[in-house]
Amino acid sequence: MGAESPKDECGLFGVWAPGEDVGRLTYFGLFAQQHRGQESAGIAVSDGHNILVYKDLGLVSQVFSEATLTTLAGDLSIGHTRYSTTGSNTWDNAQPVFKTDGVRSIALGHNGNLVNTRELADRVGTRGTASTDSDLVTTLLQTEMSITGSLEEAALAVLPTLKGAYCFVMMDERSVYAARDPYGVRPLSIGRLPNGFVVASETCALDIVGATLVRDVEPGELIRIDDRGLHSVRFAESPRAALCIFEFVYLARPDSRFREATVHMARREMGKLLAKEHPVDADMVIAVPTTGHSAAQGYSEVTGIPYGDGLYKNNYVGRTFIQPSQTLRDRGVKLKLNPIPEAIHGKRLIVVDDTIVRGTTTKQVVAALREAGATKVHIRITCPPVKWPCFYGIDMPTRQELVAADLTVEEINAYIGADSLGYLSLEGMVRASGGNKETFCRACFDGEYPIPIPGEAGKFMLEDQLHLPTI
Ligand code: SF4
Repeated sequence: MGAESPKDECGLFGVWAPGEDVGRLTYFGLFAQQHRGQESAGIAVSDGHNILVYKDLGLVSQVFSEATLTTLAGDLSIGHTRYSTTGSNTWDNAQPVFKTDGVRSIALGHNGNLVNTRELADRVGTRGTASTDSDLVTTLLQTEMSITGSLEEAALAVLPTLKGAYCFVMMDERSVYAARDPYGVRPLSIGRLPNGFVVASETCALDIVGATLVRDVEPGELIRIDDRGLHSVRFAESPRAALCIFEFVYLARPDSRFREATVHMARREMGKLLAKEHPVDADMVIAVPTTGHSAAQGYSEVTGIPYGDGLYKNNYVGRTFIQPSQTLRDRGVKLKLNPIPEAIHGKRLIVVDDTIVRGTTTKQVVAALREAGATKVHIRITCPPVKWPCFYGIDMPTRQELVAADLTVEEINAYIGADSLGYLSLEGMVRASGGNKETFCRACFDGEYPIPIPGEAGKFMLEDQLHLPTI
């Protein structure tokens, strides 16, 4: 994460592998995707007859113990790590969501954000009782399942009515299901085990459990995995692919792969292109840890300016961390990022970061580097200015709070107090990510939303619509 990057969304994992310790495999799959959500974690398992769910607020390693994992035995499992982009961070909103009518049960994990929740809430009649779009979808599926008797049939009826960005992992007592919205905004990959299959938001989770990447779940595809093998069905045509390009810039782990491209290599390429687009004379290239590392290496490689460490990041400052008082802040308490004076004193620095959102943290980083003895601070950003909010599951501030919404690059530079500021072009970012412009969502940069946003939506869209309190 860079100085003030947007927050991740959620991490999904699912496995069908009788004879394996599926609960533990899911635990490791979630652990590998901890960066996608640090507020809550949950696992559902089934032995073919009953689904058992265990979830709580906290990190994966805090939620599950050896004793808990021992009880999560079965043939199939799904898991979820959550960051609340809609709905507040309460136990009820932790996932997997579980619903049963005593005969048929369903567990569901969701990554993304729906944009037609009002319409869905009206259909299901749960106005005032649900606080997440995931909960609404599970209710819709359960209602449909009570008619059709099958989760697959229910999914084929419900999925085409959803609008927005979504990946789901779902299970009934016997099968694991995975689905991806028709634009494929959020990632979802399929892997093979010697005696089963896994699905995960990122390929790093396949690697950690020893699965081989088979392919991505296609946009508009529903897959079912059970003792009949891997079965695929299209529930909608894909108007166009729109993978979130922010996965490459910041969200995903550097060892994950999307569409054949490894995230680390893509970021390295972003750094190389950034060096070509915005060269500057300097003594040292440093990164804002940790996302900036790959790009800073690329920048250094092209320019020949040495790459080194100049900032330390404390990885343990979470969202619920106790914030310092204003007095402590005024005294310069730096919770998350701290300069290493001996490494940077007297040097002209190029500082590579992934994003500038509000600008406040970048401003503090520039000031701290100068205070620690840097003679010049040139900021280089591996994406274009973020001008528009995200409605597809990434936690970003409103347009009014985005520093680039109304200011020019020169004005932003004046605000953050750097000697120069350079952003990678949209073309450079797309090229480094290995695709063409039309196959990515890049709406937060150019305002072209691939999935129409009805009305004025926002982070707590669902609560607003359901008249629930917001936090
Ligand atoms: S708006 Fe930005 S962050 Fe949101 S899905 Fe599109 S590219 Fe990703």
